[in-house]
Amino acid sequence: MNDPDVVPGGPAEPDLRERLTLVRGRIAQAAAFADRDPGEITTIVVTKFHPVSLIEELHALGVNDVGENRHQEAQAKAEALSALGLTWHFVGQVQGKKARQVRAYAQVIHSVDRPSLVDALASDESTVDCFVQVNLTDDPARGGVAPPDLDSLLERVQATAGLRLLGLMAVAPLGAEPRRAFARVRELGEQARRVAPEAKFLSMGMSQDYPDAISEGATHLRIGTAITGNRPVLG
Ligand SMILES: *Cc1c(COP(=O)(O)O)cnc(C)c1O
Repeated sequence: MNDPDVVPGGPAEPDLRERLTLVRGRIAQAAAFADRDPGEITTIVVTKFHPVSLIEELHALGVNDVGENRHQEAQAKAEALSALGLTWHFVGQVQGKKARQVRAYAQVIHSVDRPSLVDALASDESTVDCFVQVNLTDDPARGGVAPPDLDSLLERVQATAGLRLLGLMAVAPLGAEPRRAFARVRELGEQARRVAPEAKFLSMGMSQDYPDAISEGATHLRIGTAITGNRPVLG
């Protein structure tokens, strides 16, 4: 089968609507194959590096959940598009000193990964949904809490005002078998629910691996290029 994700640019490249339709179809197919209700799967379109105009086009095509990974860019876009009522998902690493600003525009933060960030996100005024990110590699620079420290971080989120825990987030490590990585996240999710029964969602699956993520129980997919096309190269 011809995979439009890997078709190089040019006149034959499918447009945004076609890519979105194709990805939605593949999600429905993977859900059916896994005997899951596609209605329980939220697709977040990751729009980082793309202009505001692309997000407006996505909105016109029925997309309500968008993801960004860089604070300044996300803040500017959320402000420019505030009239659209989109749900903004922050999926990148959050600097402690920017935490309050991120929670001002993001409805969901997918990358809570350390106690100091939990503390920086605390609020008595409003509540933000969050995922605790788990690191499946040995490289701390990848972001995410190491699995042995997961339970204590979950307890800290639960004990912090202004944070509602949704579940776990992870990125499949480069070069690893994604299905196996997502199975590990599923297990960690089961473990997490022993301390935090509310942590029932799993944010996992990107352009290259979302069908595998669906097979392992993903509830929130973070899909960029398969829908948006290649990201513009910034000079
Ligand atoms: C960019 C990004 C995505 C989307 O990646 P694609 O490969 O373009 O689908 C998902 N999750 C995170 C954390 C990202 O930074």
